[in-house]
Amino acid sequence: MATVVNEKATTAREKPPSKPLPAPNSDFYEFAESLPAEELAIVKKVRAYMETKVQPIINKYWIEDSFPFELLPSFKELGIAGLGIKGYGCPGGSPLLVGLVAMNIARTDTSMATFWGVQTGLAMGSINLNGTEEQKQKWLPQMARLEKVGCFGLTEPLVGSGTGAGLLTTAKRDGDSWILNGQKRWIGNAPWCDLSIIWARDVADNQVRGFIVENKTTPGFSVEKMQGKIALKVVQNGQITLDDCRVPEANRLSGGKGSFRDTALVLRGTRHGSGWEITGTQMGAYENALKYAQERLQFGKPIGSFQLVQELLAKMLGNIVACQCMLARSVQLEVEGKLTDAQAAIVKAFCTSKARETVSWAREMMGGNGILVDYNVARHFADAEAIYSYEGTYQMQTLIVGKAITGFSAFV
Ligand SMILES: Cc1cc2nc3c(=O)[nH]c(=O)nc-3n(C[C@H](O)[C@H](O)[C@H](O)COP(=O)(O)OP(=O)(O)OC[C@H]3O[C@@H](n4cnc5c(N)ncnc54)[C@H](O)[C@@H]3O)c2cc1C
Repeated sequence: MATVVNEKATTAREKPPSKPLPAPNSDFYEFAESLPAEELAIVKKVRAYMETKVQPIINKYWIEDSFPFELLPSFKELGIAGLGIKGYGCPGGSPLLVGLVAMNIARTDTSMATFWGVQTGLAMGSINLNGTEEQKQKWLPQMARLEKVGCFGLTEPLVGSGTGAGLLTTAKRDGDSWILNGQKRWIGNAPWCDLSIIWARDVADNQVRGFIVENKTTPGFSVEKMQGKIALKVVQNGQITLDDCRVPEANRLSGGKGSFRDTALVLRGTRHGSGWEITGTQMGAYENALKYAQERLQFGKPIGSFQLVQELLAKMLGNIVACQCMLARSVQLEVEGKLTDAQAAIVKAFCTSKARETVSWAREMMGGNGILVDYNVARHFADAEAIYSYEGTYQMQTLIVGKAITGFSAFV
């Protein structure tokens, strides 16, 4: 008799749900809703573009280690290159909009978010923050139309975390021009783009200066595509060699302080931006994992009905919401002009470390299919590793925070 009761109870539990299951939604606290209507419309447009145009083809490009040039014409039409920059043919927009766009690009693909971030934040941002009026007029409108694509060359083969302490690439003034010598490594977009922002040490006074170098027409400039990456495979990274590369004085970024402070100013904004990107990466991994959990059956039931699986999902969502809340407050500080280097650094350190947990829980939850690119979690899982290290590693961000809170520098 007892067996019959149990069987009945089991049958009842296994009945297909009578109402539709909730659609995965990683914007659990409805951040996008806090935007004004016209900015919300931009986020929705970007999100729809990523889901309909990028998602169907991006795994193929990721596997092939190549950039989807076929997307460039439609990407241009989104009108988001230079988002956040006012004037000079750029679309403007609030810092919250810029963050939510980065997040929603990365929700589908972190490489595309990086491509866009290098163009908008690093290359255009360097010109906007440190260029002269003439340089802004000349370069920013073309870059906003994506007629010219840029890259940002700071890291070198022998100098990564220590760029502030001593770049090996040199700049020597020679009449109306500068001669650049050295190498840059890991430079995103470099193998195919049009111009490079190169940071080099002036041999006259050891100060770091930025230069706009036109890749395709400057003698002495060459670039080789880096091979064998296991993360952000869609972004093409290059090793640049500058061999007596002559750049006119008109291409020196001379609107800033003429020191590493100029570089640091650009990075403050983009580090914060990489917090948005990595949060989007977590959102993509979580939503794909949740959808899988609703559909995948084991022991005759959706795995999403198991308590241990629900715990993984709740932990993922908790990480995502924590990152979103931190980003939302840091954007307020940015708008008020109060965001410090340490505040930007803790965002990057926290969000990237939480992301490593989130993507690995998503991968784990999907069993073997978690390591197959087709299931749309493996790509996010691998890509998170690159963001953890680029634009300043976790350790570098932590040391910036440590110095600010203790008053002691532990860099060396
Ligand atoms: C996919 C990708 C894209 C990139 N794109 C660009 C780009 O477009 N432009 C660009 O200029 N650069 C780019 N980078 C470079 C990136 O910014 C560097 O990789 C990063 O700054 C770390 O430098 P590194 O790799 O030389 O590591 P290293 O500096 O050699 O560090 C190795 C390890 O030592 C640790 N470490 C170093 N010093 C200390 C210390 N004092 N205390 C404690 N730990 C320490 C680091 O945290 C790290 O774990 C990119 C990198 C990647 C992976």
